[in-house]
Formats: sequence, C-alpha cells, structure tokens
Amino acid sequence: MATCSSCGAEILWVTMFPSGKAMPLDHKAEKRIRVLSVEGEALEGRMVDAHTSHFATCPDAAAHRRRT
Ligand SMILES: [Zn+2]
Repeated sequence: MATCSSCGAEILWVTMFPSGKAMPLDHKAEKRIRVLSVEGEALEGRMVDAHTSHFATCPDAAAHRRRT
C-alpha cells in the first residue's frame, strides 16, 4: 500500500486518462452515482466507487505543489 510522503495517508496511484499523468487518490472510496445520458432516453444512473484526489484532501498539499 502506498502512503503520502507528506501526511502519511494511504493513497492509491492511478494513471489518468488521457493525460497519462500519475495522480494520487485517497485510498478510501465512496459510493457515488454516475449519470450517463443516453441520447433520446431517460438518464441512467450507475453506482461507482469514487475516489477523491489526494491533492484536494492532503493537509500538506502545498508540499505536493512545491515538488512538481
Ligand atoms: Zn498527503
């Protein structure tokens, strides 16, 4: 399990599409509903596991920005 080098929180590294950039996410996922719009039909909701960018939640986020 990866941890944030700034605050020690458990994080998950993913490769963002389509930029290909590595992005740290909070490890804990929450259930969210993703809405897909199908042309000419009612909106369709799908349950997904959503993660938050660790940049948004890290108490030491400024350190991340300094490094990049
Ligand atoms: Zn952190």
